[in-house]
Amino acid sequence: MVYHWTLASVLYASRVGEKDKRLVLFSRELGKVTAVARGTVVPDAKWSTSFEPFSLLYLRLYDRSHFLTVVSAEERVVYTGVLSSLSRSLKGMAMNQLAECVLEPSSQEPGLFAAYVTALSRLNLAANAAEEDRAFLQFTLDVLTELGFGVSSLHCERCGAALDDHVRFSMRDNAFHCSHCANSETDVALSPELVSFLRTGDGDIDPRRTLTGIALALRLLRSAAETLAIAQAFEHFAQNTATLFRVDTKEEPKESCHEL
Ligand SMILES: [Zn+2]
Repeated sequence: MVYHWTLASVLYASRVGEKDKRLVLFSRELGKVTAVARGTVVPDAKWSTSFEPFSLLYLRLYDRSHFLTVVSAEERVVYTGVLSSLSRSLKGMAMNQLAECVLEPSSQEPGLFAAYVTALSRLNLAANAAEEDRAFLQFTLDVLTELGFGVSSLHCERCGAALDDHVRFSMRDNAFHCSHCANSETDVALSPELVSFLRTGDGDIDPRRTLTGIALALRLLRSAAETLAIAQAFEHFAQNTATLFRVDTKEEPKESCHEL
């Protein structure tokens, strides 16, 4: 028999039978794992936590042939700011869904775990919808980086030139182009503010460009998901997210002459 001590967050919780919960956990030490917490739903449960998303738990897990059961749990951080707002909760659930679909089972991902905890803290402290959206965009950019599809240095997909100013994004190929290689019908010009934010995950960006950034990040994540053969799980997340942020991730822009 094996015991694991781990710091973990609940990505998804569902009831099993009358009293138990099945938890999809993002663990710092174990990666994405599934565990069962017994007797969590009964009124006089011994647990001091409800095993719901948006908290960091210090867990002791009993491992019997890779079937994990929670033996003890201690709350380390509860993101009450996320829990207290419907808007923040929905955006947090979208983050959880993205983490769940890109994580391979039982594969330790310390970089992604750190990005996820940072994203929850940012979302928790967000003062308004624009800051919530920015926290979400930053997380999608971190996920792209961790998956090996980061955009910290941009190159033209066609000629390979390093892109600095005048960056175009192809809505057909989901790729960046230089102004020489750009196709005027399907490429849109990106503003320097947006390009800078996509590169660094930081800086001044207005609410409209934040939403444009989310739409572009979803397109880049979709390409990554196809390469990683997780397109089916990703599509579910992408549809929810497009509805949540009211961004269109599939259609080509109707006003491509406008800078985004
Ligand atoms: Zn080019």
